[in-house]
Amino acid sequence: MRVAVIGAGTMGSGIAQVCAMAGHDVAVFDSDPAKVDGSLETMRSSLDRFAAKGKLGDDTSQVVLDRVHPAPSIAGACDGVVVVIESVVERISVKHEVFTQVAAHAPGDALLGTNTSQLSITMVGSVLGDAASRLVGMHFFNPPVLMRLVELVKGLQTDEATVTRAEEFARSLGKETVVCRKDSPGFMTSRVSAIVRLECLRMLEEGVGTPADIDKALRLGLNFPMGPLELGDFNGLDTYLDALESLEVAHGERFRPTVTLRNLVSAGRLGRKTGSGIYRYAADGTKVDEGAA
Ligand code: NAD
Repeated sequence: MRVAVIGAGTMGSGIAQVCAMAGHDVAVFDSDPAKVDGSLETMRSSLDRFAAKGKLGDDTSQVVLDRVHPAPSIAGACDGVVVVIESVVERISVKHEVFTQVAAHAPGDALLGTNTSQLSITMVGSVLGDAASRLVGMHFFNPPVLMRLVELVKGLQTDEATVTRAEEFARSLGKETVVCRKDSPGFMTSRVSAIVRLECLRMLEEGVGTPADIDKALRLGLNFPMGPLELGDFNGLDTYLDALESLEVAHGERFRPTVTLRNLVSAGRLGRKTGSGIYRYAADGTKVDEGAA
């Protein structure tokens, strides 16, 4: 099956790899060609690790990589495809730009998926006209090659047949699915993870514990792979803030960001990428304190 992945960042790259590992031919487009080059490099080393563990079946990493084709444009990527997966930055204006072009160039029966982690699917599809019936939220998790779930989200205009096709496609990738039948921002997963993070930020603000102890409590007591505060620094506190602000608009004040989070972002303390956030970091990214926010 021919698949187009639009956006070759963290998620698009992983999604393209998952599709190629499942035997699909994948055209990849990114507005920044360097991202596609970087993505091919990342895929190569990841595939080599899979091959070394004997997890590519009869394929070699080169065979899988040969199924991935950089495309010069969205039009080129969408030529003759059965499925398009959009995974560009989480900004509605950019997603609209992309889907306007996808609608113009993809075959009239292509399945259209958006990997948004929380935006309304109906809003993403508002530029698609009748093709909105073929758009479904296809929310992969990071890293897509390891995470088993694809959360499917039905927009107001999404046909039931589109949901069924998306379930079949996700199965072809070896993934499990859940279906959000109501187009509710944050879906089932992002909204729960946002509220957990927020509760940790509230405890921090109330002085219930140090950042290090709050993270340790969730890691060791509740089996979280990473503490929500350290994860916030890892993903970027500006990203945390954006997500909470849009969930507050959708679901009300229970998602209101804390003052401390706003202050950290205003001060440019965005986490690892700026050297400090809730914790402080050395140049090589190692944590150098117990958190002082
Ligand atoms: P990213 O910043 O790593 O990648 C986004 C890519 O989009 C970049 O490579 C950028 O060059 C490209 N891009 C921007 N404008 C474009 C355009 N007009 N045409 C083509 N490419 C364009 O971001 P990401 O983390 O991969 O996130 C992508 C999507 O996946 C977002 O909607 C995000 O919410 C969602 N998502 C992210 C995660 C995560 O953990 N990072 C998990 C699930 C879903």
